[in-house]
Amino acid sequence: MVQTILAIYLFILVGSFLLERWLDLKNLRHSVPELPEELQGIYDENEYRRSQLYKKENTRFSFISSSFSLLLMTGAILLGVFGMLDRFLTGHLDSYYLVVLLFFGILGFVSDLLSTPFEAWDTFKIEERYGFNKTTSRTFVTDKLKGWLVMVIIGGGILLLLTWLYQATGRWFWLLAWGAITLFSLVMNLFYSNLIVPLFNKQTPLEDGPLRDAIEAFAKKAGYHLKNIYVIDGSKRSSKANAYFTGLGPKKRIVLYDTLITDLDTEEIVAVLAHEIGHYKKKHTLWGLLTGIVQTGIMLYLFSLFVAVPELSQALGADGASFHIGLIAFTILYSPLSMLLGIAGNMFSRRNEYQADAYAAENYRSEPLVSGLKKLNKNSLGNLTPHPLYVFFHYSHPPLLQRIRALNKPLTAENRPSAANKR
Ligand SMILES: [Zn+2]
Repeated sequence: MVQTILAIYLFILVGSFLLERWLDLKNLRHSVPELPEELQGIYDENEYRRSQLYKKENTRFSFISSSFSLLLMTGAILLGVFGMLDRFLTGHLDSYYLVVLLFFGILGFVSDLLSTPFEAWDTFKIEERYGFNKTTSRTFVTDKLKGWLVMVIIGGGILLLLTWLYQATGRWFWLLAWGAITLFSLVMNLFYSNLIVPLFNKQTPLEDGPLRDAIEAFAKKAGYHLKNIYVIDGSKRSSKANAYFTGLGPKKRIVLYDTLITDLDTEEIVAVLAHEIGHYKKKHTLWGLLTGIVQTGIMLYLFSLFVAVPELSQALGADGASFHIGLIAFTILYSPLSMLLGIAGNMFSRRNEYQADAYAAENYRSEPLVSGLKKLNKNSLGNLTPHPLYVFFHYSHPPLLQRIRALNKPLTAENRPSAANKR
């Protein structure tokens, strides 16, 4: 039985590795004989070649780093590292809480240290070579330290709470844990911009000037509070530009990267902002939060069933059923389902992107959004021709071509997102 379970773990780990690499390869080799009309003129010949090289280098990098992780994980399983660490800690510590904290603390810290050279390679070699990197080594190191601090406080806190609930309630543990995690994610959603983001970035309300005037005019028309629009110093780390909508109720905010403001002209920025307001008007953050809560419930329920099976922990080298080793076993067994949920989540997200684009086209204009998206794609050397299967698995946003086509479609009664037609 234990041997069979061990084989299942290895099968899942190797299988998902092979699937991912196969998708990568398909995507890398995918090209079209001639670019569709909508995509012509985005890159000149040299830029197009660079975008292909960038894609190739990223694929090679993910092959190397994921091979390393696979080797590490299968090695740890086959050598019984999890069981050994558990016996060592239990032998030296009286408190079970301390055992659990140190167990995950040590594993997390070691695996983070081992992955740091890969992160550094990505930032200072690949991103640097293509002119994207703005991260100094000082920022890189302080980011790491702050990341660990956040992980110790938040990750450690949640872990302690889960362990305590499991010890105290056993069978009904999942229901109480679900409630606690839901409460926590609601609080995080409200205070993320105030508590976590300032550790890493500076956010300032949008400055006065012609851009603010243009945005003000649009925000007023759309019924959106301008005091919720912030500019973030993304240029501290990368030249790539972005914008996002976050938070709920009074804590909602639209965040524009400073790089977006340098790259796009005023009309294009207003169009991007209109897209973000579209996410707000269509309640996409709320739906995202709700589906996340449902998924957490399913996951915790399944975990409560699995953790009671001693063989699942024994296959990882434990002596019997164990909460913390069971958690690792569950992470492996849950990963195929998590992949499926990820695909569903991406489908949902791509649909939301079309809706937000349609909102911007309807309430502002589609032309500046199209030209803004083209510029953003060009400045990040984006892949113009991703493989459809790769898109299906991994893209949270529709590919550029599909977005442009949807935006260029004349508005009809069917695809019109709201009654008011301001075009
Ligand atoms: Zn969006």
